[in-house]
Amino acid sequence: MARYRAVFRCFAGCDGEYPLTQPLYRCPRCDGLLQVTHDVDPLRDRSATAWMKLFDERWMRTQWPYGSGVWGKREWVAPDVTDENIVSTNEGGTNLFWGERLGKEIGLRDLWVKLCGNSHTGSFKDLGMTVLVSVVQQAVRQGALGTRVLCCASTGDTSASLAAYGAAAGLPVAVLLPRGLVSAAQLVQPLAHGARVFALETDFDGCMAVVKELARRGAVYLANSMNPLRIEGQKTVAIEIVQQFDWETPDWVILPSGNLGNAAALYAGFKMMQDLGLLARMPRLCVAQAAQANPMYRAFAAGKDTVEPIHAEATLASAIQIGNPVSAPRAMAALHAMDGVVEQATEQELADACARADRTGLYTCPHTGVALACLFKLRERGIIEADQRVVVVSTANGLKFTEFKVGYHEQRLAGIAATRANAPVVLPPDVERVASAIAEMAAGA
Ligand SMILES: *Cc1c(COP(=O)(O)O)cnc(C)c1O
Ligand SMILES: [Zn+2]
Repeated sequence: MARYRAVFRCFAGCDGEYPLTQPLYRCPRCDGLLQVTHDVDPLRDRSATAWMKLFDERWMRTQWPYGSGVWGKREWVAPDVTDENIVSTNEGGTNLFWGERLGKEIGLRDLWVKLCGNSHTGSFKDLGMTVLVSVVQQAVRQGALGTRVLCCASTGDTSASLAAYGAAAGLPVAVLLPRGLVSAAQLVQPLAHGARVFALETDFDGCMAVVKELARRGAVYLANSMNPLRIEGQKTVAIEIVQQFDWETPDWVILPSGNLGNAAALYAGFKMMQDLGLLARMPRLCVAQAAQANPMYRAFAAGKDTVEPIHAEATLASAIQIGNPVSAPRAMAALHAMDGVVEQATEQELADACARADRTGLYTCPHTGVALACLFKLRERGIIEADQRVVVVSTANGLKFTEFKVGYHEQRLAGIAATRANAPVVLPPDVERVASAIAEMAAGA
């Protein structure tokens, strides 16, 4: 793979390029964001058809490392990482669920939900983490790193993923969590993997400020999506979606967003496909935010190109409770290039959307609820049309959010009218009583 090449460059376009194994998180010239750029010309040695064929041949195979949806596209991701340094849990290759019944309810024939939460640690974060930890493993073995301690600020899923990949690689991990703002499953995941968990008396933005300073001092290696290695892995979700439609492009992709790294990643994936001739046209993007934490929505509604940081209020969609999104400039570029929109969902709307979707066979996390609620609004307004093909990205597994699910069905969520609550019926072990309850149920169905 020597002919393929990827390096860090300044996102704003300053001169200079840096190897991916260098612990660098900001442009040394302007202090702005970095991006991974690929030499596209060598990649043209295969035609678009040949790339599709190669990716299809590798799709979910047992041959290491191609069982991974990410490493099956390694030439487009991190071409210099060698097999022995790859730290993978067979991430990617997740189900694209046909939302047939839910789509019918809203007058949409072609609704699909990309279940990124059906992954090793239960969220899409695994797609990026495999790349970051693999590059770190290679850098460590080359002696290119000062510190081996991987560290992130997290709203729960990044830390779970980093801890798992760090443990798989045998690298030390420290995570900074906002105290009391992650689910029980998300808290126990890094603990179980032996990471050092620091619960800080602040929110995500506060944790992010601390980890940035630790990284600046060289005390840790930064594993947040400010580090563009994460984005390189996450961009494969765009390629997977198109691949799962036999290389047809959908009309819309709806993405629940907080720090906005995934929005940037989605665009990076589609852009690379476009550059190499695999994409007929750009899909449209909907960045879906919680109304409680909506800095991108505010910027978009005001027609502004820059995102003003806000104080994010508490939201059930805890993984996107972010007021100062690190990747805002990257996401703004994605919105422009994808003719994008930004929509928001209230707490009531996201809870209703989850409950409604779950009744059609999905099992949605609250962030997916945000995306679905935004879909319902765009459909009602006719911005999404009846015959369009829509993909909702489900970012995490509903099983991580049991408190939310139970709270809803027991009608214990503050301020939420749980109109689809479904609590257990307690009965004595009496056949007649159960039979008559079932008869009643059948009569109502
Ligand atoms: C991280 C995360 C998001 C937000 O992704 P960003 O890249 O921060 O915008 C959304 N949903 C879930 C479940 C997440 O873990
Ligand atoms: Zn720069």
